[in-house]
Amino acid sequence: MRDTELYRYLMGIESPWTIARVDLDVKQQRVDVWAEHRRGTRWQCPECDTDLATYDHAEERVWRHLDSCQFQTYLHARPPRVNCAKHGVKQVRVPWAEPNARFTAMFERLVIDVLKETDVLGAARILNLSWDETWGVMKRAVARGLLAKQRRVVARIGVDEKAAAKGHKYITLVCDIDGATIEYIGDDRKTETLDGYFDSLSEEQLAGIEAVAMDMWEPYINSTLTHVPDGKDKIVFDRFHIMQHMGRAVDTVRKVEHRTLKAEGDERLTGSKYLWLYSRENLPEQHVDRFEELRAADLKTGRAWAIKESLRRLWSYHRLGWAEKHWRQWYFWATHSRLKPVVQAARTVERHLPNVMTFFTHRITNAVSEGLNSKIQTIKKMAYGYRNRENFKTAIYFHCGGLQLYPPQVTHSLAG
Ligand SMILES: [Zn+2]
Repeated sequence: MRDTELYRYLMGIESPWTIARVDLDVKQQRVDVWAEHRRGTRWQCPECDTDLATYDHAEERVWRHLDSCQFQTYLHARPPRVNCAKHGVKQVRVPWAEPNARFTAMFERLVIDVLKETDVLGAARILNLSWDETWGVMKRAVARGLLAKQRRVVARIGVDEKAAAKGHKYITLVCDIDGATIEYIGDDRKTETLDGYFDSLSEEQLAGIEAVAMDMWEPYINSTLTHVPDGKDKIVFDRFHIMQHMGRAVDTVRKVEHRTLKAEGDERLTGSKYLWLYSRENLPEQHVDRFEELRAADLKTGRAWAIKESLRRLWSYHRLGWAEKHWRQWYFWATHSRLKPVVQAARTVERHLPNVMTFFTHRITNAVSEGLNSKIQTIKKMAYGYRNRENFKTAIYFHCGGLQLYPPQVTHSLAG
């Protein structure tokens, strides 16, 4: 088999294109391949698909392709141009790459696959690309995916905020709880931020929303009430966020108590911060003894913790009536605890109680958002290369958007 024929097969080049020449540079570990087309081929205008003859050829262009073993491989060609009566002189589409791309579609797919497994810097190193080239693939993939995204009803959504950078820069994430994908990312955490999501939906999509899980955060509440039909019955203040509020209350109790104890030379609470944030089942084995000892001691922090953990049971009831009963007992206990942060947290939840109890209608949990959250945390950690908030958003869409990221497979049939 001749080398040109071999590369025609390997690269999946099809008629009217063929491989005219293959150059091997052993020193540079590089293969260069030139594609040419049959004379007399007719092309489509890229704007209107009208069949036209070749007008002339553009300058030679080069696309990086998948390596041939350890040799970097480049495809060269002069794209034909047509002269369309309507659109003027236009370069035609080549089957192996998207317009303006510097990589063949097959290579771009590989870059996307590697990016899914590692960060931009890692992918750049593995594939011998620059940071900008690698980043460009990710950005194009996301743009392509967002453009191709089908309109559909997302019935159960979770809304969450995330610190995007040091200081107070936030982004708002809207996730599809059932699909476990991020549907929307908006700057900040204001009413307008969430409005941006709802405004992007059709009336049918808005009407299709069945439940919205979120924190007790007025801007999100207001936006949902404004946009979602019967939003009042659909908002669910979810367990994750409520327990987060309770966790903060426990931590405030601990801080104050620790300060007081320390002043008396009592170091019992030193380094105990994280112990109190776990639920009992999740407490790591090596801390169990110390924790049990602390809990047995008559500490305010221990009481606050017990109140927090008792609230957690609210969501385990099968019936609303039982949950309501649990709530009343719990609320009495919490508000009579004489632990100010706990009393405050309990009152906050109480003010929002009707939409805590909507849980028992919708059974919406944000286990998925929590999973996505930790994924996003990982993206953030990997993100030393993400120079700004826009890049962070792009990376979230790339990893969590459930998007169709690949360029269309326009070439390569194994039949040749
Ligand atoms: Zn045209």
